[in-house]
Amino acid sequence: MEGNEVTVLRLGHRAGRDNRMTTHVGLTARALGADRVVLTGNAAGPRGTIEDITDRFGGPFTVELTDEPKRLVRGFPGKVVHLTMYGLPVQDVEGPIRDAHREGSLLVVVGAEKVPFDVYEHADWNVGVTNQPHSEVAGLAVFLDRLFEGRELDRAWEDADRQVVPMATGKQVEPVDPDVASDDAE
Ligand code: SAM
Repeated sequence: MEGNEVTVLRLGHRAGRDNRMTTHVGLTARALGADRVVLTGNAAGPRGTIEDITDRFGGPFTVELTDEPKRLVRGFPGKVVHLTMYGLPVQDVEGPIRDAHREGSLLVVVGAEKVPFDVYEHADWNVGVTNQPHSEVAGLAVFLDRLFEGRELDRAWEDADRQVVPMATGKQVEPVDPDVASDDAE
């Protein structure tokens, strides 16, 4: 995606129980325009799955693991957005957040279980996608779509081995011809 980098931090991961949700946070971040996801805890399995999808369906997108998520939040060289049902309505703060993204990088934090209060204090914006409890995957998807104003839906993918051929009915995946793909990119 154009613009400054967007990193998603998945804060917390219960091995086994959260594998699918953590994987979906990463896949949603990738599909909807973020540049990078940082996972915490014992999330080697989700990391492998997200990297495998990126290898096959394209990027650029990177997956990292950290043992020090608080250091990432505190030291992030840009603005920090924490998605939480307790935050300010996304529709009220999306404009200033877009302005901040034009100026520099964004870190978007989503939780798993209870998020430590210092994340609420350190965030530049605590943002609710509604003030109802739901899911980090849903919150992230709506937030990224608001951030990019829908442009992420038309993005191009680099270095994909395969691509889906959209169709009204049926399923078709075709190999990507690297020569045609590089011509298109010029
Ligand atoms: N009770 C937990 C807490 O203390 O934040 C919420 C756990 S919830 C299952 C997991 C994550 O989903 C949250 O940390 C938050 O990132 C996201 N989430 C849930 N509802 C949300 C909402 N309405 N708006 C934004 N994010 C939300």
